[in-house]
This record gives sequence, C-alpha cells and structure tokens, in this order.
Amino acid sequence: MLDTQEYYLNDTYRMAQRQLDDVAKLMNLDAGVHERLRWPRKSIIVSVPIRLDNGTVKVFPGYRVQHDQTLGPCKGGIRFHHEVSLGEVAALAMWMTWKCSLLNLPYGGAKGGVCCFPEEMSIGEQERIARRYTTEILPFIGPEKDIPAPDMYTNEQTMAWIMDTYSNFVGHAVPGVVTGKPVVVGGTEGRVEATGRGVAFTIKRAMERLHPELETPTVAIQGFGNVGSVSAKYLHQAGYKIVAISDVRGAIHAEGGINVPDLLSYVKANGSIVGYPHAERMDASDIFELPVDVLVPAAVANVITAENAPRVKAKLVAEGANGPVTPDADAILQSKGVAIIPGILCNAGGVVVSYFEWVQDIQRLFWAEGEIVQKLDTLMAKAFDDVYALHLEKQVDLRTAAMMLGVGRVAQAKTLRGLYP
Ligand code: GLU
Repeated sequence: MLDTQEYYLNDTYRMAQRQLDDVAKLMNLDAGVHERLRWPRKSIIVSVPIRLDNGTVKVFPGYRVQHDQTLGPCKGGIRFHHEVSLGEVAALAMWMTWKCSLLNLPYGGAKGGVCCFPEEMSIGEQERIARRYTTEILPFIGPEKDIPAPDMYTNEQTMAWIMDTYSNFVGHAVPGVVTGKPVVVGGTEGRVEATGRGVAFTIKRAMERLHPELETPTVAIQGFGNVGSVSAKYLHQAGYKIVAISDVRGAIHAEGGINVPDLLSYVKANGSIVGYPHAERMDASDIFELPVDVLVPAAVANVITAENAPRVKAKLVAEGANGPVTPDADAILQSKGVAIIPGILCNAGGVVVSYFEWVQDIQRLFWAEGEIVQKLDTLMAKAFDDVYALHLEKQVDLRTAAMMLGVGRVAQAKTLRGLYP
C-alpha cells in the first residue's frame, strides 16, 4: 500500500472498503475495476480560515472527496461537524457512488465537510466558513463537475451561500452548482422532505413484504434532525406507532405512541424533544435495544456495533443515516434474522430529489410538488423492487443485493469506458 492511501484508513473508510471487498468477491468483480473503486479518484484538503465574532482568526480543516465519476458528475453533500475527517468523507463519497448508481442517477459519488462545531457557531461564522470553503474548492465543483448538497448541520441557507459564492466568481447566477437550495434561488419543491419521505417509503414497502401480519408496527427513531423528523411524520401518517425518539440532547419514550405533529410543534418552540410533556424521558443509548418492530438510526455512523447488536430486538433496521451499522454488527443482526434496509437505498430520497433539482436548474423549467413526489416514489419503488428481487434470487441480504446492483452498474460502465489513457 502507498503511504498516501493510509490517510484514508480510519474505521469508517475501512468499513466502506470492506463492504466493497465482500461484494466484489461474491460478484467476481474484475480485479482491476475493484482496485480502482477501492480508492477515491480525487481528494481535496483545504484550510478554511475565518474571523470569529470575537475578532480572532481560526482555521478549520475542510475536505471534498470525489470517489468516482464514471456515470456522470460527482454528487454528494457537505457536512459541518466536529468528527469530519478525510477518511470519513471518503467513505461517505464511496457510499454516494453506490447510492447514485443503485437509483439509476447519472452521477458518481462525492462528499465534503468542514471539521467544526456548528452548534457553537453564530450564523455569521457559519456563513464565513461556507463561503471560504466554497472559494477553496471552487475549481473542482460546478454543474458539470461536482454538485454539493446539504448533509449534517448544513441546510438550504448554506446552499444559498455556496451558490452565491460560486456565482459571484463566475460572474452570473449558476443555480445548478448545488442542490438543496431555497426554492426562490432555484431550489425545488419537495427537497427538504425528500430523504425522510424516502425512508418512510422504503420502510413501508419492506414491511408489506416482510411482515404483512403487523397492522400497527412500532418504531424507534434515533435522531430527530431533517431525516428522523420527516421519517417520523410520514410513518405516523401511515399508521405506524412511534414509541421512542432521541436527539442530540436525550430521548423520550411513550408506550402508547407519540403524537408526531404535536411533538414537531413542541420541537419548533423548544429546540429539542427533551421535556416533551406527553412522554417519559429515557436513556438515549437504550433506544437501540427497545422491543420495537422497526428501528431507524437517523443520525451518525457507527452506532450499531458488535457491542450492542446482540441486544437489538427490532425486526427491521432502516438506515436513515449513512453507515450506522458496522459490518460486524451487520453479521450479528443477520444471524438473528433482523432485516436491514441499507442506507444507499433507504436514505436515497434526498439525492433523488437533488437530481430533479439539478435537471430543473439546467433546463430552467420547474415542476410542481405533486410531480416531484410521484417521480420520487417511482424511482424509490423501482430501486427497492430491484434490490428485493435480487435478494430473493441470489439468497443474499438486502445490503449485499443493493451493493451488487450499485457496484455492478459502475463496474459495467467502467469496463465499457476502459482505462484512460
Ligand atoms: N447528503 C445527502 C446524502 O447523503 C444528499 C446528497 C445529495 O443530495 O446530493 O445522500
């Protein structure tokens, strides 16, 4: 191994690589293609200096990793988080490649991030980070090269700043440089809710097939950000009973079910689920071990591990987050008969509607929300059904089936395009 490749090898990157290696073996993937896919195509490391509100200057490390661009320009979010590192971003970029390929989107995978504490920063400080980070990676992004989007602790406002910074550099408005923008600057209807909507959609589709006998499945959701809260809303609407929810501050539990719309208004007013009067407080780490039908980890990576997996009681684990189940935990859950909807399928709704946003930006023609939701459902249904059919045909778990499809399409395109020069 070359020294530079060692920089990627933290736990999360090893996990993404191991998932690829396992499926490569199973598919008899061409060794040359496999080796090329094990490493990112390009990684950009930048320093992001900003002036803090107190007048001092602080430098934050930033990254943009482009894993692959065989099927089209790179695509993937940007996160602001204190755990951001080159290896983590590279793993997330690799997962974006499989996700886009599985959903049949004409993209390769990328991811970016700035290592910082966004909760402790003012809006002004966040804006300065977003703008300077964009400036540093500017030569490498663009509607035809690499299109960022929101991820952890970045949102519509962050995307508007990125779009503005890029547009000012090139001298005209370029809405297609990022997705997840506010509608008024070229965003699309339906993007904010897209990931959670897709999570709820795949859970319902999986439960119809795996447990049609359950009329009111019970659910525990870890994380109540954009993904967790919207998933909760749509599952509640579909008649599922949400019995436990956690966020960064703590967790709540209500055996009779949580009224999600009421909780959402509480969170809007109070900033957290903690203190919600119609539920009891519980230890946040216990959320993984509750006797529920569906468990939705919708926060960070590496939360279901070999340590707690033996105590998971859910029938279905739906990966709202990217990489919440480690490969060791994966094997344990499988041996216990727990089904897992992998993140590259479960949380793909976000990038699907990002794709719609980019298409609308490029053609300067915008669609109504109903059309977008319907198109999203169609793509999610097709990907789910393809994965489910392959899982039955090859007698493999859902993650393996999803990876076989995602990796398979990229490999086929790579073989056809050949190795340049
Ligand atoms: N950050 C999201 C993800 O992990 C969305 C990426 C995008 O919309 O490009 O899938």
